Amino acid sequence: MADVNDLSSDNAVYRTLLESTKAIPWKIDWASKRFTYIGPQIEALLGWQPESWISVEDWAARMHPDDREGVLNFCVAQSQAGLDHEADYRALTKDNGHVWIRDVVHVVRNAEGGPEALVGFMFDISERKKTEEKLLALQKELEALSFKDGLTNIANRRRFNASLELEWESARNNGQPLSVLMFDIDFFKQYNDLYGHIKGDRCLTDIAQTLNLALDGPRDLVARFGGEEFVVLLPQADATVALKVAQRCERLIKKQAIAHAQSPHGQRLTVSIGVGTVVPRSHLLPSDFIEAVDQQLYAAKRNGRNRIEVAPVAV
Ligand code: GH3
Ligand code: MG
Ligand code: MG
Repeated sequence: MADVNDLSSDNAVYRTLLESTKAIPWKIDWASKRFTYIGPQIEALLGWQPESWISVEDWAARMHPDDREGVLNFCVAQSQAGLDHEADYRALTKDNGHVWIRDVVHVVRNAEGGPEALVGFMFDISERKKTEEKLLALQKELEALSFKDGLTNIANRRRFNASLELEWESARNNGQPLSVLMFDIDFFKQYNDLYGHIKGDRCLTDIAQTLNLALDGPRDLVARFGGEEFVVLLPQADATVALKVAQRCERLIKKQAIAHAQSPHGQRLTVSIGVGTVVPRSHLLPSDFIEAVDQQLYAAKRNGRNRIEVAPVAV
């Protein structure tokens, strides 16, 4: 290829080629760190006139501050090592915007193997970046959705399991307790039979919101465990706190006074609650603890429903 520093009329064809591509060609003299050439297309893309690209400082100054240091360090290191390289960054436009650029750089070496000049092409990769950003946002949304229960909009069982793992680890490391409450709606099959599934669904959403309101710890979590079962995770809560929260949940649900004509408990919808507290030790498994809390929930059912049963603290 012709030396872009030495474009004579004989090389007009090269100039035409260089200046008609969408990519923007440039050349920097390594010793002086000055541009010896920059394609006129730069003005259409960024708004800065080609004459204003004098030194490497102009290039660096017209880069997004968040990208500047990293890109500069990388490009200088690669150039000094005589390695061709590529860098993506946001080039600032004259009207205070930015354009995502991929700079593809070739190092022209001197006889000793050191850098003599850098030649490269800047590619406008804004469209690709936009697509990438959209994909990333979609991926985040998908991740959030995969941890959410579609009906009630609270956390799902998967999220509960993930949080339990983390909190278990943290409680074990700090020698702290953690508590879990398990809820099961009483006579919910009859509720559906009596009022229909749509009302049943609304009821589940209402209970989920009520449980959400009952929690105030920054790491407390309510999740839908299954059909008409909910679970509450209370990190750092001992047995006394856990019982208090269970009673608050029970009280708030009573206050809602959801009619259930076939319930023997005042013809109102009620819940059974199992409560457990654990100070995790290395031999204890989260699944065994959850099983123990579930047993208390079944005890609450056996003992007449509409009640709270508490497991002895597991250590
Ligand atoms: P118990 O007092 O022993 O808990 O009796 P139950 O009728 O509540 O319990 P059972 O496990 O026999 O029935 C649970 C019912 O919950 C069955 C099902 O129709 C209902 N259910 C589960 N998921 C949903 C849902 O997403 N929407 C609605 N509307 N109902 C659901
Ligand atoms: Mg059930
Ligand atoms: Mg039930």
